[in-house]
Amino acid sequence: MTKDVGTTYRIAEDAIESLQRMGLAASPRNFELWYTYADGANLILSRDIDQFLADNGQLDQTKADALYERHIASSELANTFLDLVSRFESEVGDLFETIERTGANADGNGKKLSALSLELDGMTGDQSDVGTLLEGVIAVTKSMKDQNQKLESRLAASTNEISHLRHSVESIQLEAMTDALTGMNNRKSFDKSMSELTKEAKTNRSQMALIFADIDHFKKFNDRWGHQTGDQVLRLVAEVMKSNLKGKDLLARYGGEEFAIILPDTTMDNARMLAERIRTAVESRRLKKRRTNETLGAVTLSLGITAFEDDDTPETLIERADERLYAAKNAGRNRVVCDGDPESANWEDEATFAASV
Ligand code: GH3
Ligand code: MG
Ligand code: MG
Repeated sequence: MTKDVGTTYRIAEDAIESLQRMGLAASPRNFELWYTYADGANLILSRDIDQFLADNGQLDQTKADALYERHIASSELANTFLDLVSRFESEVGDLFETIERTGANADGNGKKLSALSLELDGMTGDQSDVGTLLEGVIAVTKSMKDQNQKLESRLAASTNEISHLRHSVESIQLEAMTDALTGMNNRKSFDKSMSELTKEAKTNRSQMALIFADIDHFKKFNDRWGHQTGDQVLRLVAEVMKSNLKGKDLLARYGGEEFAIILPDTTMDNARMLAERIRTAVESRRLKKRRTNETLGAVTLSLGITAFEDDDTPETLIERADERLYAAKNAGRNRVVCDGDPESANWEDEATFAASV
């Protein structure tokens, strides 16, 4: 149902006021998110925001971005997809119609042809009759050829359209699995791969390791140098990780400044070596602000690693990798902690840990 103009302005004003109150920029994305919230039409979005505000009182840009990705961007993708599907359906409908129409005509031509051949059978040798009859045959044949050509070009156009649609659907699927900021796999893609690769490791009785990595003191970095510079660092860290991976290794942005790497067919020793390589590569990068050439120092990573065990599920693996990561934070950050390391016993859950720093 469309709303009257006055109502839409009231909703828009509400949205702007809320953005202002929370200190969020009046960017198109924030506005779209908040307009949808103020409108109240998306119940799940409203529930998520209400819940978050009840728990935290405030909402920062990172959370707003996450809400936008979850509720707005993904529904846009679904709409685009539905649009493509209906185009596909109407294209196929057109095609059938053309075939039916051409089929009927061909049938009509067939009847004309058989009538002509009957006449030919009864011919007595009169030349003028033959001329008329041949003209009739030529006309019928030509009409059939035209119809066939029409059908062929219609089929070619449809095939083209269908393969174009397939490419669009494939790129939408890829987009739905990709993190917009870093271009790496997103959480959804990670969850899917974790479930597949855990099953594979179980079936093949193969080794597998899971690394969780989190940037140290990234909040301070953002506060000091700004969110956009922080975004550049996230991209850089993702690139450094990616450049150290190979084959079936799967890198994903697990959340804000946290990354996960699934390593199928990999021993703990090799996973540790890889994690150390990534840790030192990130630590030794001297960061500079591109525009001003200002030195930003370095960022460091804490990494936790766990190895797959027979009775593991994706959840138990993730839980252990997370514990190792927090043990690495607890032990002073900028380090790697694996199963069985002395530090690995020394972790507290996230809430206790956050309260202690
Ligand atoms: P710790 O060493 O304990 O991990 O400290 P931390 O400050 O890195 O961790 P905390 O969880 O307190 O803060 C994470 C920060 O990461 C908060 C937020 O500013 C930043 N962050 C999360 N996602 C993004 C993002 O997409 N872009 C930017 N620039 N910053 C982000
Ligand atoms: Mg961090
Ligand atoms: Mg974190």
